[in-house]
Amino acid sequence: MDIDKNKNFSEWFNTIISDAGLADLRYNVKGFVVFRPWSVKSMKLMYAAYEAELEARGHSPALFPALIPEQNFKIEGEHVEGFTPQVFWVEQAGGNKLEERLAMRPTSETAMYQMYALWIQGLADLPLKIYQSCQVWRYETKATKPFFRSREFHWIEAHDCFATEKEARGQVREDMEMTEAVVHQQFGIPFLFFQRPEWDKFPGAVHTYAADTLMPDGRVLQLPSTHLLGTNFAKAFNVYYQDEKGEKSPVWQTCYGPAISRIYGALFSVHGDNKGLVLPFDFAPVQVVIVPILGKGQDGEAVLKYANEVLAHLLHDGIRAKVDSTPSTPGFKYNHWEMHGVPVRIEIGGREAEAKQITLVMRDAPPKTKKTISLTESIMVIRSEGAALSSRLLAKADAYFGSHLAQAKTMDELKAGLEKGCIVRVPYCSMEKTEGKGCADEIKAQLVGDVRGIKYDEKAPAHGETCVYCQKPAQHFAYVARQY
Ligand SMILES: [Zn+2]
Repeated sequence: MDIDKNKNFSEWFNTIISDAGLADLRYNVKGFVVFRPWSVKSMKLMYAAYEAELEARGHSPALFPALIPEQNFKIEGEHVEGFTPQVFWVEQAGGNKLEERLAMRPTSETAMYQMYALWIQGLADLPLKIYQSCQVWRYETKATKPFFRSREFHWIEAHDCFATEKEARGQVREDMEMTEAVVHQQFGIPFLFFQRPEWDKFPGAVHTYAADTLMPDGRVLQLPSTHLLGTNFAKAFNVYYQDEKGEKSPVWQTCYGPAISRIYGALFSVHGDNKGLVLPFDFAPVQVVIVPILGKGQDGEAVLKYANEVLAHLLHDGIRAKVDSTPSTPGFKYNHWEMHGVPVRIEIGGREAEAKQITLVMRDAPPKTKKTISLTESIMVIRSEGAALSSRLLAKADAYFGSHLAQAKTMDELKAGLEKGCIVRVPYCSMEKTEGKGCADEIKAQLVGDVRGIKYDEKAPAHGETCVYCQKPAQHFAYVARQY
């Protein structure tokens, strides 16, 4: 393929999904997609990275049922109001109509917290930090887009309980640190963490914090969000602990939700180029493809034999490698594996076979940049070149993201920033629903921009500034962007 990703992102995105075999959109339930092996292999590696990070920080895995009784769902008032329009309901089993309909989980607070009420008695049971890797269902009414927004998606949800507000706030910060450690440092996806405005919170939360990344078409995509739930759900679900004095208090709760299928969409959109996918070394289904170049002479058999020897050497060290011995031409194979984003290509011809060497080409290298090394040093060089490629992807993504942050004080400046595909920092009146939502609605109506919130670590008030829309004194600097 050869499509300009930054000029025609939508065409690029749809072409890569079909040509690289990431998903099939022909499944006959609207808004549902089939994820195909090339994306699922990467997503499994991403799940493993995230689960390792969660477990290193004291979380344990569990698996809760996908079906939630309607009565659970109704316990927390704001939650039921927020999620009910998005719920798929199971009303019949076999030939019987169910006495109580069952929700297919859109998120698992109402499945998990009734069990937490049974598990948590005293301080010895806290903190409780549980996560599950699963899929959830939401009847999205906005236009769906594979990976970014579909009616079934694959995520991790972590639900934590603490004795104190301080610990719960500490967890929110730790969730942001995990996002930095995994999404940014490992997946190479830059973002800003915002505290969402009061009118854009998770239903039932005290505060919602969410990471926004930027897509090549200048629209932001929400990556993981973490919510300070306070004691709202604990009181509703009766999750109380008894302290040393015998007094009962509700637990403080947080929940955190990295959606792996969406993050994978962000990963390939951020790193891909006009030739196709470019995958970070650690998350490529195939890290090294070996292409035998069979000459016209007698050396074909020797080249293939040596290619398989190189393969065994790499596999033995745990590198995900394969030999492409299909009958296609080397040029066809190069294009094919470039489109699939394989980080390292090894070319092996008669010369390499004879000298026990390999010729390396990195996926992101300028044309004709090759490097010939000995087989004995291949593991070390491939691992270090793979890591270097991942670092280059991160640096390139950071540079792009950084160059798309802008500032504005007037609606005209804001308009110009949004039209350049930027996330724009503006003085803003208020994050409260009663005062600030009206301005957000006007900005949305006039400029198709969404007020994403205030940067979580930028607490400095906007002294002496006036709101970009209403001109009243600004309490904050808010960030505005066009969103998915
Ligand atoms: Zn205002």
